[in-house]
Amino acid sequence: MNMRKKCIAPIALFLWGLGASAAAQECAVDVGSADMLKFDKNSIVVDTSCESFTVNLTHTGKLPKNAMGHNWVLSKAEDVPGVAAEGMKAGLDNNYVKPGDERVVAFTEIIGGGERTSVSFDVSQLEKDVNYTYFCSFPGHSGVMQGTLTLK
Ligand code: ZN
Repeated sequence: MNMRKKCIAPIALFLWGLGASAAAQECAVDVGSADMLKFDKNSIVVDTSCESFTVNLTHTGKLPKNAMGHNWVLSKAEDVPGVAAEGMKAGLDNNYVKPGDERVVAFTEIIGGGERTSVSFDVSQLEKDVNYTYFCSFPGHSGVMQGTLTLK
């Protein structure tokens, strides 16, 4: 009888540990970039059970942010060209995002090689059945450096 009890406790702890790490992963994602115009993910799925969702962006390249900077900007797919064009005018000091742009759901600062940053946003801001696109608003990057974000 005693032996059986001793076996259950470690298994329960193990399962609890798995559950905790899985839940933490569901509401966050790591997105990598380097000295090329691409993210290492083409799509992100956000679970509607998440209150807040976090994107951790890394840049493993060597070039500085004024030459090969990257950020992570989220908007509706149809808004990408406008957000990117006005972001370009806003300049590096504004992380290539027009201050107060209401089409932007969330964005990170621009980072260069060896840097990392993250942003969290409220999932209730996202609408179902809307196509969201995340992209880099560094001049010339948004056309190819992007992916889709969907609610599940
Ligand atoms: Zn970029």
